[in-house]
Amino acid sequence: MSAAQYEVHGDVAVIKMHNPPVNGLGYELRRGLLDGIRQAEKDSAVKALVLIGADGVFSGGADIREFNTPKMLAEPSLHTVINYLDTTNKPVIAAIDGVCMGGGLELALACHYRVADPKTQVALPEVKLGLLPGAGGTQRLPRLIGAEAALNMIVSGVTLPAKQFKGSPLFDAYAEGNLLEEALAFARRVIEEKRPIRRVRDLSVAHPKPEAYFLFARQSVAAVSKPYPAPLKCLEAVEAAVMKPFDEGLKVERAGFLHLIQTDESKALRHAFFAERAASKIPDVPADTPTREIKKVGVIGGGTMGSGITINFLNAGIPVTLLEMNEQALERGIGNVRRVYEDRAKRGKMKPEEVEQRMALLHPTLSYDDLRDVDLVIEAVFEDINVKEQVFRKLDEVCKPGAILASNTSTLDLNKIASFTKRPQDVIGLHFFSPAHVMRLLEVVRGAQTAKDVLATAMKLAKTIKKTAVVAGVCDGFIGNRMIARYSREAMLMLEEGASPQQVDRAIEAFGFAMGPFRMSDLAGNDVSWFIRKRHYEEHPEMKRLPIADRICELGRFGQKTGAGYYRYEPGRRDPIPDPEVDKIIEEVRRELGITPRKFTAQEIVDRCVLALVNEGAKILEEGIALRASDIDLIYLTGYGFPVYRGGPMFYADLCGLLNVVRTMEKIREQGHPEPQFWEPAPLLARLAEEGKKFNESE
Ligand code: NAD
Repeated sequence: MSAAQYEVHGDVAVIKMHNPPVNGLGYELRRGLLDGIRQAEKDSAVKALVLIGADGVFSGGADIREFNTPKMLAEPSLHTVINYLDTTNKPVIAAIDGVCMGGGLELALACHYRVADPKTQVALPEVKLGLLPGAGGTQRLPRLIGAEAALNMIVSGVTLPAKQFKGSPLFDAYAEGNLLEEALAFARRVIEEKRPIRRVRDLSVAHPKPEAYFLFARQSVAAVSKPYPAPLKCLEAVEAAVMKPFDEGLKVERAGFLHLIQTDESKALRHAFFAERAASKIPDVPADTPTREIKKVGVIGGGTMGSGITINFLNAGIPVTLLEMNEQALERGIGNVRRVYEDRAKRGKMKPEEVEQRMALLHPTLSYDDLRDVDLVIEAVFEDINVKEQVFRKLDEVCKPGAILASNTSTLDLNKIASFTKRPQDVIGLHFFSPAHVMRLLEVVRGAQTAKDVLATAMKLAKTIKKTAVVAGVCDGFIGNRMIARYSREAMLMLEEGASPQQVDRAIEAFGFAMGPFRMSDLAGNDVSWFIRKRHYEEHPEMKRLPIADRICELGRFGQKTGAGYYRYEPGRRDPIPDPEVDKIIEEVRRELGITPRKFTAQEIVDRCVLALVNEGAKILEEGIALRASDIDLIYLTGYGFPVYRGGPMFYADLCGLLNVVRTMEKIREQGHPEPQFWEPAPLLARLAEEGKKFNESE
C-alpha cells in the first residue's frame, strides 16, 4: 500500500496517511503528501482537501527509522511539504485523531482548518531531544493558542488532550463521531460558505506586555533548564513569533534548530533515545521468538529487594506469592509492601481501595508447595552462594516444568546458581536496582545456558512492569556494578592520595551526577561494598586493600542508616556534614602508607572516576558482557544517575575523542597511580582510538 492514498469524495479530495505504526513523516509519506496536494491542485472538480491518518492516528512526527539515513534529509523535506500546504489555493482541512505530535502537529498547523477528535494526544516534544520544533511549530502555535500557552507547551514538551484547547482556534471543530465524515462535512461547509483560506501565518500573536513577559519567562526558563540549551532557544523562537513578521520568525526558528542539533546535549539526548530502542534487540534472539506466559509470579525473600520487586508485579495486576524464612520475616515483608502503598495513598497518589486491591494480589507463604504453579519465581534472599544453593535446589524440586527461575543476585555467578538445578536453560538473572519499585533499570543476565525463549520472555515482561531492560552476560557485578566498583575504587584511592570526600563529591556532582560517590555510598550502606570487598580480598589475596573504606566500616560507620559514614548525619536528616573523625582516619592511613598528600583539580577527579568507568566498560564490551556500547550508556543513565545530557560514559568518551581519553589515561599512569596496570587502555579502546573510531559508531 502506498504511504499516502489519494481518494476523491465528490468535490473533496482526501489524502490518507498510511505509515504504521504512527504515520511517521518518512520519505515515502512526504512524497505521497506532496503528490496528493499537487493532484488536488490540478483537479478543477476538487474544491477542498482533507488530510487524515489511517488507523486512527494522525501523525507522531518524524519517522525515527530514518534517523541518520540519507532519506531523512531527502526532498521533499517536511519544510517543502508544509510550504506546499501553506501556499496551496484550495482549503486544506486536517482531520486529527489518535496522536498528533512533533512534525505531525506542525503539519496540522500548516493546514487551513483543523477538525479533531477531542481525545487526540497533542504535543511538540522536540525539547526532550534537546531540539526545538523546526518546521514552523514555534511560529504557528503561538498564533493559535497565544504566546504563553505555546511557550509552556514547547518548553516542556508536554502532551495534552485536544479537548484542552476548546475555545482556542487551534481546532475549528471537534468530531465526536466518525472523523472522516465530520471532516468531509466541515470541508463542504467551507466550500458552500466560500470561507477564505485561513493561513496561520497571516494571524498575529496578541500579547498585552510582550517585553515584560519574555523578560520574566527567560529568567524562569533559564533557572530550570540548566544545563540544557534547548528551552532557551525555544523561548527565543516563540518570542520572535510575537515580535517579528512570520518569515523573520521562521528564520530565528531555523537558526535555533541548526544550532541545537550540533550541541552535545542534544546529541546525548538523542543517543539516549536510540539506546533505549536498541537495548531490546538481541542479535541471536529474533523479535518473533516465542515467549512463555507469565500469569503468576513467586518471590523468595521479602527484604529490601524482594518487597520492591513484588510491588512491580502487583502494580501490573500480576499475583505474587511471597515466600519467607519465618513468620516474623514474612510479616515484615508484607509490611514493607503495604507501607509503600499506604504512603502513596497518604500523598493522594492512590485511592485507599486501590491499596487493598493490590494487596489482595499478594499471597504470603512459608511453604514451597505454594510455588508449584507459578510461571516465574524471582529469588531475592541473602547474597550468599550457600543460601542461593538451598533455594534453587528447592525450586528445582517444586516448580512446574517450564517455570522460569530467576535470581536477583548482584555479584554471584549465575551459571553456578543455574548448576544447582537440573534445568539451567530456565535460569536467568533479573537484577533489579534499589528501590526496586522506583528504579527503571533491569539488568537481564543471560547465563551460559539460558534458553532464548526465557530471555525473550524476560525482555517482554520488563515492558509489562515498565522497566528498561538491558541484557548482560555473566561476570562479577555484571555491567553496572562491575564498572561502579572501579569508579568507587578510584574515589577511595584519591582519598589516600590527597583528596577529601567532600572534594570528590563536589567535583562529580558538578560534572552532573545526581550524587558523588561518598554520598552515594553513605546512602546505599557502606557495609554492602565492604561485604563484597572482603570476598574479593579472600579471592585475590594479592590485591591492594582499601584501608580507609575498611576502617570506616570497622567503626560501624555504615552511612545514613547508622548516622555516620564518610559524613555524619543529624538524627532524621539526610544532609551530609563533613566529619573531622573521617579526616583523622584518612590522615592516619596516609601516614601509615607513607603518602604525602597532593592537591587534586576537579577535572582530575572527574577523569579518574569517569574514565575508570570507560576503561572497564570497554573491557565489558570486548568480552561480550554488553551487546553494544549504548547498552552500557543506558545502564548508567537509568540506574546510576549519570548525567543524561552527557549521554552515558561510553558516549562521553566518544565526545571527548578516544585518542584524548587514551592520552589522559597515560597521564594518570605517569603520575604514579597505585594500580598503574588498570590504566593501561583496554585493547578495544586503544584500537578504536588508533583507528579514529568511536564506541557508538552511528553518532
Ligand atoms: P535483605 O537482607 O534486605 O533481604 C533478604 C531477605 O531474604 C530477608 O528478608 C530474609 O529473611 C530472606 N531470606 C533469607 N534466606 C531466605 C531463605 N532461605 N528463604 C526465604 N527467604 C530468605 O537483602 P536485599 O538487599 O533485599 O538483597 C537480596 C538480594 O538482592 C541479594 O542477592 C542482593 O545481592 C540483591 N540485590 C540487592 C540490592 C540492594 O541494593 N540491596 C540491589 C540489587 C540486588
